[in-house]
Amino acid sequence: MWLPFTQMKDYNQNPLIIESAEGIKVKDTEGKEYYDGFSSVWLNPHGHRKAELDQAIRQQLEMIAHSTLLGMTNIPATELAEKLVHLTPEGLTRVFYSDSGATSVEIALKMAFQYWYNKGNRSKKKFVTMKNGYHGDTIGAVSVGALDIFHKVYQPLLFDSFKVPYPYPYRHPSGDPETCREECLAELQQVLEQHHEEIAALIVEPMIQGAGGMIVMPSGFLKGVERLCRQYNVLFITDEVATGFGRTGEMFAVNHEGVIPDIMTMGKMLTGGYLPVAATVTTEEIYQAFYADYTELKTFFHGHSYTGNQLGCAVALANLELYEKEKLIPQVQEKSTFVSTLLEEFQQLEHIGNIRQIGLMVGLELVQNKESKEPFEWAKRMGYHTSLKMRELGMLTRPMGDTLVFMPPLASTESELEAMLAIMKQAIQQVTNS
Ligand SMILES: *Cc1c(COP(=O)(O)O)cnc(C)c1O
Repeated sequence: MWLPFTQMKDYNQNPLIIESAEGIKVKDTEGKEYYDGFSSVWLNPHGHRKAELDQAIRQQLEMIAHSTLLGMTNIPATELAEKLVHLTPEGLTRVFYSDSGATSVEIALKMAFQYWYNKGNRSKKKFVTMKNGYHGDTIGAVSVGALDIFHKVYQPLLFDSFKVPYPYPYRHPSGDPETCREECLAELQQVLEQHHEEIAALIVEPMIQGAGGMIVMPSGFLKGVERLCRQYNVLFITDEVATGFGRTGEMFAVNHEGVIPDIMTMGKMLTGGYLPVAATVTTEEIYQAFYADYTELKTFFHGHSYTGNQLGCAVALANLELYEKEKLIPQVQEKSTFVSTLLEEFQQLEHIGNIRQIGLMVGLELVQNKESKEPFEWAKRMGYHTSLKMRELGMLTRPMGDTLVFMPPLASTESELEAMLAIMKQAIQQVTNS
């Protein structure tokens, strides 16, 4: 095999094969157990082998596993669409399915571009994105990505987009979130002022950049971005693939600032971490720009073989029912307060530069020197080695450079959260002090 986002030379030195799981622990083929400290890459809310979710799939199997959504629909996909329209902010009424976060972003971009095209505007064809942003790995999603380490090689393959600064208060010369926010908004305004006639849409990860290093935006920034998009007649796309379904303590991260996008993408936790289903949700206004006689050629020519898969949609429905039944989102709010209390102790550690958290999405930035904020030498791979130590100590996670990631399943109990953070702390101490 050739594993995703993996230097196989690293893997071969430390192979790992997962065989089974129970709750928030997974077990490898040697029988060693690990806490799933990153929710299997950010997508598992309830833990593994949740009875209700297993049951939903078995039940759907008695009916049908898959039929296409090209030109027809099916029951779970239809019911799930209704549910998503209900859960997303007012005004989002139409659901377009796909099967990964990246495809939900591709769809958002093509949809935004063709919206203007169908309305007769042929000049709005560019996108604005945030520096350090991440929206998935397909070519379109990479074109609106701006993470050098992942994206630089592919530059010759990409379409151009405007990359505006993202507010990162810890690394801003003033260190002040409000100054940083205003500066970034002013730069965005300048780009929009000069280029809005050629810009179809802006895309942003709401409230927090995930893969970019768990960077939480200062409050008021998202609202400011929304206001500028409206002012300059640019569609506003929020990528909720990482933040959606309660990860930040609200059903969607846009709820923190009462923001309503024109297009919202979602994936990861939608199916409870079981199956690949993603969705791009949009407004009636955008939907109607594609609705016409076939011969007008306004159709949205996009689709994937497994779009709207019944097993996936059935488990997604069961997942969202569990959110209500178990009052999962209020739980996230309480647990995130518990986690921030535990994280206070981490502030004392010699090499913890900055702790960032929203809900159960946490990043701990390691630095060589706390005073000067000087990073560790890149090639030392401190984040990688610290995470490898955590694995040895019984917890799985994946860092973003030297930012350690803690994204436990939302249903983790307080004692589980405590145990996971104890492992993190021990690993940080052992690796950074050696
Ligand atoms: C993970 C992620 C994606 C990509 O989702 P995949 O399902 O891995 O393709 C897109 N956007 C954001 C914000 C993400 O965190």
